[in-house]
Amino acid sequence: MTIRENVALGPLTTLGVGGPARYFAVAETEADVAEAVRWAEERGVSLFVLGGGSNLLVSDAGFAGLVLQIGIKGVRDRRDGLFQVGAGEVWDEFVDRMVKAGMQGVECLAGIPGSVGGTPVQNVGAYGQEVAETIVLVRAFDRKSCQFVQLDREACKFRYRKSLFNKDEPDRYIVTRVDFRLHPSGQPQVTYGDVKRYFAESSETIDLASVASAVRQIRRSKGMLLVENDPDCRSAGSFFKNPVVEAGRVAEIAAAGTCKEAMPHWPAGDGLVKLSAAWLIERAGFGKGFADGAAGISSRHTLALINRGGATAVDIERLQDRIRTGVRERFGVELEREPVKLG
Ligand SMILES: Cc1cc2nc3c(=O)[nH]c(=O)nc-3n(C[C@H](O)[C@H](O)[C@H](O)COP(=O)(O)OP(=O)(O)OC[C@H]3O[C@@H](n4cnc5c(N)ncnc54)[C@H](O)[C@@H]3O)c2cc1C
Repeated sequence: MTIRENVALGPLTTLGVGGPARYFAVAETEADVAEAVRWAEERGVSLFVLGGGSNLLVSDAGFAGLVLQIGIKGVRDRRDGLFQVGAGEVWDEFVDRMVKAGMQGVECLAGIPGSVGGTPVQNVGAYGQEVAETIVLVRAFDRKSCQFVQLDREACKFRYRKSLFNKDEPDRYIVTRVDFRLHPSGQPQVTYGDVKRYFAESSETIDLASVASAVRQIRRSKGMLLVENDPDCRSAGSFFKNPVVEAGRVAEIAAAGTCKEAMPHWPAGDGLVKLSAAWLIERAGFGKGFADGAAGISSRHTLALINRGGATAVDIERLQDRIRTGVRERFGVELEREPVKLG
């Protein structure tokens, strides 16, 4: 494994901002992962794990430690719908392969950028599916015990955009392999409003391929599919999570907004309610296409902050702070950032 120095990180992320990594390496095997951890520990430098850089905001100063990109490849078919997938595989290519193989369970997650190893981290989800439903095991290097461990679904503690890996024990595990249990010849999932509407308006037969294709088209219409030279794509996906509040606060928040239309909200269990971050942001005065210097909001998706060209991390964070302040002042709701900040 080669350790390079002063490697620009911006081009390795979908947002395309940020400074260099002092040290940079790609791990192609589990042995590389263990070696990189040892290398960093011996020199007393911190280590950051990089996948596809699609949920990342890198600071303009970059990162003073070692950035280890996980490039472990391989998809092993263990029969009966069980697939062992290297963390460095491209997620969307894996989805495509499963759809073509007639394996149900990830078709609604088509078009999401990033690596397979990145998906358990924030329990990636979209259009009515999340990876927690199909992941049966995550193999990872445990930086605390310095050994490889296998974590079953329960141990991963999946919930909405959260897991053991990003919430309970952040930075402890380096994911090297993810095992998925898919359903051979299963029926595609069409439960989400946008997908249902798509098929209500089309004469297409509903099968795995048409659902995955519909999801990609819906994503494209919202600037949520990476398309070359589309400025709306220079984002880190949704920049804010949908806020979850106590059900008793809904009336007060809606009243604070003094909006004519009803405020959208959904039950989130345990007396909690999920609000629409996009709705709140728009009512706070930040609509699609909003520009703030080189940073902006996608012209097709309120939740996607974009690099309009030559933006710095400071530009992106200034816009983030403006939006958060606007929503707090109008609705008294705190927005939480979804992408990870490095440096
Ligand atoms: C256009 C667009 C659309 C998107 N749509 C969605 C969506 O619909 N739903 C959704 O949930 N997300 C979405 N995202 C966010 C993003 O694609 C996912 O979170 C993705 O899983 C991140 O994976 P990554 O490999 O790019 O991770 P990175 O961005 O490289 O890293 C993100 C975090 O995961 C950690 N990490 C990555 N790989 C590993 C590993 N092997 N072991 C341990 N930690 C690791 C990193 O340290 C970091 O903390 C979207 C992003 C974009 C740009």
